[in-house]
Amino acid sequence: SADKPHQNLAIIGHVDHGKSTLVGRLLYETGSIPEHVIEQHREEAEEKGKGGFEFAYVMDNLTEERERGVTIDIAHQEFSTDTYDFTIVDTPGHRDFVKNMITGASQADHAVLVVAVDDGVAPQTQEHVFLARTLGIDELIVGINKMDVVDYEESTYNEVVEEVTQLLKQVQFNTDDASFIPVSAFEGDNVSEHSDNTPWYDGKTLLKALNELPEPKPPTDAPLRLPIQDVYTISGIGTVPVGRIETGVMETGDNVSFQPSDVGGEVKTIEMHHEEVPKAEPGDNVGFNVRGIGKDDIRRGDVCGPADDPPSVAETFQAQIVVMQHPSVITAGYTPVFHAHTAQVACTIESIDQKIDSSSGEVAEENPDFIQSGDAAVVTIRPQKPLSIEPSSEIPELGSFAIRDMGQTIAAGKVLEVHERT
Ligand code: GDP
Repeated sequence: SADKPHQNLAIIGHVDHGKSTLVGRLLYETGSIPEHVIEQHREEAEEKGKGGFEFAYVMDNLTEERERGVTIDIAHQEFSTDTYDFTIVDTPGHRDFVKNMITGASQADHAVLVVAVDDGVAPQTQEHVFLARTLGIDELIVGINKMDVVDYEESTYNEVVEEVTQLLKQVQFNTDDASFIPVSAFEGDNVSEHSDNTPWYDGKTLLKALNELPEPKPPTDAPLRLPIQDVYTISGIGTVPVGRIETGVMETGDNVSFQPSDVGGEVKTIEMHHEEVPKAEPGDNVGFNVRGIGKDDIRRGDVCGPADDPPSVAETFQAQIVVMQHPSVITAGYTPVFHAHTAQVACTIESIDQKIDSSSGEVAEENPDFIQSGDAAVVTIRPQKPLSIEPSSEIPELGSFAIRDMGQTIAAGKVLEVHERT
C-alpha cells in the first residue's frame, strides 16, 4: 500500500552464493508476482505436471534476464512485507555495482548479506561488507544460505556465523546489529516460516528480520542537489540538462547555479515522464530548461543547486577511504580516477593523514608512508579538474565516491571536509 514506509534493500555477497535465488524466493513468498501471471503459469505447469512451478517461474524469469545479458537483473524488483515496501537496489556481480553503490545510483538503506554455508566468507563477501560499512549501512541481515546442502547441520552453520562475525568486527560493524539466519533460498527454509529442518534455530525468519529493520532515515532538509547526467538540445525548447534530484526540490521560477561550470539562470520548465511539472523532488528523474544556458555551458558531472546556496566546488577535500583491492601500495602522489555522483575526475591523493585501526576505529598511525588493501585511512585529495562534492555529514547523497584504476574499484570513501575553491 502507498502508506508503508519504503526501504531500498541491497542484496550483497559473493557470486553464486544465492543472491538471485533469495530475491526470487522473497518475491514468491511475499506474493509479489501478479495474480494473472501466476494463473497463466499455473495452467501451463498443470498441463506439464510440474510441481513448485510458481517459484520456478520467478527463477526462470531472473535467469532469462541474466541470459539476455541484462546488466541489472534482480535490481528494481519490488516486494512488500507487513511493515515496508522494499525495492531491491543494485546487485553485486555486475560491473557497475560497486561504482553505483558508491555514486548514489543505489542508495541502499539496509542490506542482506548472503553467505553460502558450504563456502563461507569469500572475496566478494569481504569486499561488499567493507563497502556497506564505508557507505554507512549500519545494520545487516546475514542469510547463511544453502543450508540444505549441509543437511541443515547446526555446527556448520555456527562455524560460518563465527567466520562472518570476525569479518564484521574487522570493519567495525556492530555485530549486535546483525541478525544471522540459516536459510535455504532454494527450499524456502526460514524465509517466511520457521523451518522444521532447523529445530535448533529459534531466531527470526528472514521476513521477520526485514519487518523489524529500523525505518530509513528521513530525507535531509538539504538544499537542491541535482547531478547532471546528460545535456541535450531539443528543438523548440533549447538546452535540456537531465538528471536525478538527490536532495531538495526544484520549482519553475527558481534561480539555479551549475557547479563547477559556474553558470546559472532561471528554471523555465521541468519535465518528468514526458510531462511538464511545476515541481520535482528527490528521486525524480527530470529534464529541465534554464533561461540563457547553452549546450556548451554545462556538462555531465556538474551539479545544479540554488543560486543562493550553490553546490560546493573542492580545491581539496579530506576523506575517509577504505582500500578494497590494490595490487601494491598506495602512496601520496597517486592519481587514480574518482567517481562521484555523475562526475569522473582524476584526483591526486596529496597526503595520507592517518591510518585507522579498523578493529577499534582509533588512529593507528599519523602520516603513514603508505596504505594497502584492507586499510582504512584519512587522506587529503586534490582534484585535477574542478569537482563538485559535499561533506558526507551535510549531504550524504553527494558525499561519497569510488576510486577506480586499472578497470577496478580499488577504494571507496566518504567526504569529511571540503576546502572550497575560491
Ligand atoms: P548469485 O550469483 O549470488 O545470484 O547466486 P544464484 O542465486 O544465481 O545461485 C547460484 C547457484 O546456487 C544456482 O545454481 C542456484 O540454484 C544455487 N542455489 C541458490 N540458493 C540455493 C540454496 O539455498 N540451496 C541450494 N542447494 N542451491 C542454491
